[in-house]
Amino acid sequence: MNTRDEAVALDEADPLAPLRAQFALAPDTIYLNGNSLGVPPAAAAQRAQVVIAAEWGEGLVRSWNTAGWFALAKRLGNKLAPLVGAAHNEIVVTDSISVNLFKLLSAALRFQRQRDPKRRVIVAERGDFPNDLYIAQGLVAQFDGAYELRFIDDPSELPAALQPDTAVAMLTQVNYRSGYMHDMAALTQLIHQKGALALWDLAHSAGAVPLDLNGVGADCAVGCTYKYLNGGPGSPAFVWVPHRHQNAFTQPLSGWWGHRAPFAMNPVFEPEDGIGRFLSGTQPIVSMALVECGLDVFLQTDMPSIRKKSLALTDLFIELVEARCDAFPLRLITPREHARRGSQVSFAHPNGYEVMQALIARGVIGDYREPHVLRFGLTPLYTRYVDVWDAVETLRDVLANETWRAAEFAQRAAVT
Ligand SMILES: *Cc1c(COP(=O)(O)O)cnc(C)c1O
Repeated sequence: MNTRDEAVALDEADPLAPLRAQFALAPDTIYLNGNSLGVPPAAAAQRAQVVIAAEWGEGLVRSWNTAGWFALAKRLGNKLAPLVGAAHNEIVVTDSISVNLFKLLSAALRFQRQRDPKRRVIVAERGDFPNDLYIAQGLVAQFDGAYELRFIDDPSELPAALQPDTAVAMLTQVNYRSGYMHDMAALTQLIHQKGALALWDLAHSAGAVPLDLNGVGADCAVGCTYKYLNGGPGSPAFVWVPHRHQNAFTQPLSGWWGHRAPFAMNPVFEPEDGIGRFLSGTQPIVSMALVECGLDVFLQTDMPSIRKKSLALTDLFIELVEARCDAFPLRLITPREHARRGSQVSFAHPNGYEVMQALIARGVIGDYREPHVLRFGLTPLYTRYVDVWDAVETLRDVLANETWRAAEFAQRAAVT
């Protein structure tokens, strides 16, 4: 592409373009960070008002029943299900990814221990988002040597890492730093051949790429609602467990929301049959209610249409950076191959942090990840082709004029 007008023409022909109006977008901002925190759906402010003033303010405690608060975790799970290839009553929206990983890893270890006590190893990727590794480490430490964490550095090491002692492989489908996407079907099959369970983290997949959890036969999954699904800062995550495993998995955070009769006030815990047993305690209803606003936009289209535009946007971003910023030391670390790419593009630059701060000062918001990585999330529901053009022109300007060298851009904030 050689001119901005060509980008404008692509937007005019884009079948998803009308959906952009359903988001409350900040003026004079090109937002390429929906992989970290999605933008607010336009309906969210109104929905928050209704939940606070009418459901909470007027309905008060009655709203657990009358406003459907108690059923919300399951109802939202069913709305989310088609986006990830899940069946009805296989998902609950609840808690954080961190907490849900603890539940699922524990459930998977227990399930395997009962079948074969030799299976005591969790296989994980060293390059995964560290949070998931921290949760696994915390879990392993609780059991004083009964379990073990084994790292791989590359998917090619997975066959050797999956030994007769392996209980579960915990993999994030799309890597947070590089945007590399695993072949979920092939790896799940391999994990099963070696007798282990496949736990998938869909933080950078849900709402970003088409998923077929039941089709690939995965064993359990967690995912995020505040990234591509636009649920709002800290909105609850989700847990998927297929029907075939639900009653065979028990999780340790056995709170009353997962009890088969929570209001019987029985002192003995008995898990609910089905996906409800993956709930623990009372949920943040105000935040959870807003998740629905984002899902309602997704349900007006489908994941194949979103994927088609996502690949077109990421292809264009790569093409323009390589053509127009070729004088600068940028190195693409995202796979060019479509099948291996999520919905983000990452470039390494020796002064990545400073360059990103200079871009943000110019209204082009991406983010930075150690070491040296400029990360740009391309979200098809509200990102235009012309935004890609303008973002790359701003990047070129920041690099050509070296505005990133200003001292202010070297100051590190708490969140990068
Ligand atoms: C974003 C992300 C998380 C976030 O976990 P929280 O519990 O919501 O803080 C976890 N894992 C991965 C892979 C992520 O990308």
